[in-house]
Amino acid sequence: MARDPRYDILFEPVRMGPVTAKNRFFQVPHCNGKGMSFPSSMIAMRRMKAEGGWAVVCTEETDIHPSGDMSPLVEGRLWDDRDIPVFARMNEAIHLHGALAGIELTHTGPRDACLYSREVPISVTHTPVHAGDYPVQARAMDRTDIGNYRRWHREAAVRAKRAGFDVIYVYCHAGSSLAGDFLSRGRNDRTDAYGGNLENRVRLLREVLQDTHEAVGDACAVVLRYVVDDQMGPDGKADMEESRQIVAMLAEVPDVWDVNVREWRRDSIPSRFGPEGSQEEFISFVKKLTTKPVVGVGRFTSPDTMVSQVRRGIVDFIGAARPSIADPFLPRKIEEGRIDDIRECIGCNMCVSSDFTMVPMRCTQNPTIGEEWRKDWHPEIIPERKSADRVLVVGAGPAGLECARALGQRGYDVVLAEARERLGGRVEDESRLPGLAAWRRVRDYRVQQIQRMANVEVYQGSQLSAGDILDYGFPKVVLATGGTWQRSGIGRWRNKAVPGLSGIAVFTPEDIFAGAPIEGPVVIYDDDRYYLGGVIAEHLRLQGLEVTLVTPASDVSNWSQATLEQGWVEQRLYDVGVAIVEKHSIVAAERGQVLVEHTVSGRQRALPCASLLFVTMRLPNDSVFQALNADPVSLGTAGISSVVRIGDCLAPSTIAAAVYSGHRCARETDEPAPDGVPFKRELVELL
Ligand code: ADP
Ligand code: SF4
Repeated sequence: MARDPRYDILFEPVRMGPVTAKNRFFQVPHCNGKGMSFPSSMIAMRRMKAEGGWAVVCTEETDIHPSGDMSPLVEGRLWDDRDIPVFARMNEAIHLHGALAGIELTHTGPRDACLYSREVPISVTHTPVHAGDYPVQARAMDRTDIGNYRRWHREAAVRAKRAGFDVIYVYCHAGSSLAGDFLSRGRNDRTDAYGGNLENRVRLLREVLQDTHEAVGDACAVVLRYVVDDQMGPDGKADMEESRQIVAMLAEVPDVWDVNVREWRRDSIPSRFGPEGSQEEFISFVKKLTTKPVVGVGRFTSPDTMVSQVRRGIVDFIGAARPSIADPFLPRKIEEGRIDDIRECIGCNMCVSSDFTMVPMRCTQNPTIGEEWRKDWHPEIIPERKSADRVLVVGAGPAGLECARALGQRGYDVVLAEARERLGGRVEDESRLPGLAAWRRVRDYRVQQIQRMANVEVYQGSQLSAGDILDYGFPKVVLATGGTWQRSGIGRWRNKAVPGLSGIAVFTPEDIFAGAPIEGPVVIYDDDRYYLGGVIAEHLRLQGLEVTLVTPASDVSNWSQATLEQGWVEQRLYDVGVAIVEKHSIVAAERGQVLVEHTVSGRQRALPCASLLFVTMRLPNDSVFQALNADPVSLGTAGISSVVRIGDCLAPSTIAAAVYSGHRCARETDEPAPDGVPFKRELVELL
């Protein structure tokens, strides 16, 4: 298909100092849980972005010296020449596809505790380190330290050029880089030439930019990553006037401005709390002050929004981290006029969690991310079917939909049977809760793909029993029948049912999805600790019910710290008036109240409760599987050679895990069952 001429502007080349980007798609730096720990995986993932059409493909933040060691975070590292080969290999792969390679150099100063290097962290002033509450302080830098820092940055830039990078970042963000800390009125209380008035605070950033230009500017573009609302006024609010002055002072110094907003949770705002393009109001002033190209992000997935941002002079480059993870081939799909094939990011931030969990990145929409090298999974290409067997997939939640889609792509004849009239399983239910509409894309992308496949038939309103499946006699059966929330209170904290439940109205999330009438006051006991308890609390409160959320965790929706949602969730619950009781477990229920207990002190209290809602754990809906499995003779008679469980039917987990499970099942169909380690590993060679 030809490209829609409306999108031509996105494919114009853009000059950046000595180099030219072939189009406007710019994969900005993003962490991925691989970095220096899983270099082959990291290289293959970046290579895929280049193959997918991104004009610039950047690393994650990369530390330049042991005194800026970011461990235990798994990021990039460029301390000396021994770190060059990994990047050289990556850049070769990126260049092969005509893309430019960028590196985000940074020294995070007092952010990180230098846990691996055991060096003393350095900082603009004496201060405790910020990340992880480590009981460690950073020391204030003197003139020698400042000179050393400039030299390390310059040397890192030279090494980066030798490694083949075309684009070199200077990172300026208060709290995540020395240059940003020096610039910050709040953090910098120095009285020397690097502190006090704005000219002095800008000095170090200007020097590092100039150093980088002098060192590598002949061959590499120098990018300033600048956080536009970092400057805080005395009232604790962003001082946008000072930010404007800084941009004006440095307007033509970098070759490119990459601009975003302060705090990662705002920069990578979950879709539940911020729409596509939400940074526009903050960054739009930058282009008015510089002639240099500007990169901006905003979870862009719609080419029309992208075009609009470029035409209206907001940005020159469509910056993307998450959209490039959900669909590494996004630029190529726009270029080839395949808009419907774009796997749109849902803004769930499961990808972000990998930075905190320090394992190779995963994505709800793209099950192949992180598996490009270790499993040879390509996001767009999948091996052809290895048999003519027809496959019956039962259940059209995220697992069943992805399995049917990927099997269909392999060329198998597939029948997908779903009990309900609507496809999507839990995604269909959950996306109707406040703020979760974008999550429906998990369903929509797959349904849309399947609808175009002549070899995949879908039957809605088809609840299948084990007997039905035996009657149909498909050689291969995949059960993706999901899971069911428990009504007992059993979960992480409790392993026995809560006593007294017969005297109270008990509900589960499924009852809420089904629209069960609920009376207040409601107590939600959330031992799942991710998003669902919090979002149901919001949903019920918005209906006017009195709601108390009780959780044994130290914070409401505790695990969503990893997806940058927790602070937003807590704020939202306070705003709408949900009462929050943290570090409490449920002990008993009786008519009109529940008894809860502080998890440390054991002190108990009663909470008024007309309706008790458990969000604790699910059990697999595997009765059909168990029935089939128990009857090998009938399976043989029916000609069924394999019955497998996937997704929540195997073990309830995240939506990302269900999609991954469905994809994996499709890839492994007609392959020998994996035995031992099911992927390539990156083993450290002993020196
Ligand atoms: P997962 O996350 O593993 O995909 P979901 O709970 O989201 O699980 O989806 C499971 C789907 O399976 C639901 O849409 C449900 O209606 C469907 N389902 C469950 N049992 C059957 C069955 N026996 N026949 C057909 N569909 C079923
Ligand atoms: Fe987008 Fe979620 Fe995938 Fe991250 S994990 S890229 S937020 S869909």
